[in-house]
Amino acid sequence: MPNKKEDILQHTREQLCAYLDEHQLRHTPERFTILATICQLQRFNIEELRGALTELTISRATVYNTLTLLEDANLIQKLDKEFGVRATQYELVGATDSCVQVVCQRCGRVSVVKDSTISRMLADKRWSNFVPHHFSLYMFGNCKVCRRKMYKNK
Ligand SMILES: [Zn+2]
Repeated sequence: MPNKKEDILQHTREQLCAYLDEHQLRHTPERFTILATICQLQRFNIEELRGALTELTISRATVYNTLTLLEDANLIQKLDKEFGVRATQYELVGATDSCVQVVCQRCGRVSVVKDSTISRMLADKRWSNFVPHHFSLYMFGNCKVCRRKMYKNK
């Protein structure tokens, strides 16, 4: 997975083109605009995505259909339901490679933490009959905002 945002956009556009051709689907401007916006956001829920789509008037139905298509094309993935009460979250596949995702179990807020100690530890590990590419690690707990609320209610 490339690192720079322009490279990610280029790479995902190529993947989407290949997927559309393979399935004989149309290369509509809406699909590419939504993909470009997702590359900027990296992680989002549907309302955040719609809020960021300012260029074209894209209907809610088109947004939903495109998300399903991008999920089928393995360009985005839904985050685990465990993540709590917030609206369904999606992320660009590969956007959070090799990092720790810190998940609040009360509000579902997810933040990404780069941890060089864990990365180095896993990179140094020897695997038998396996070639690792990247890792994804979830840490569950309570965020600062929720902890403050919990404390107040006592
Ligand atoms: Zn929280």
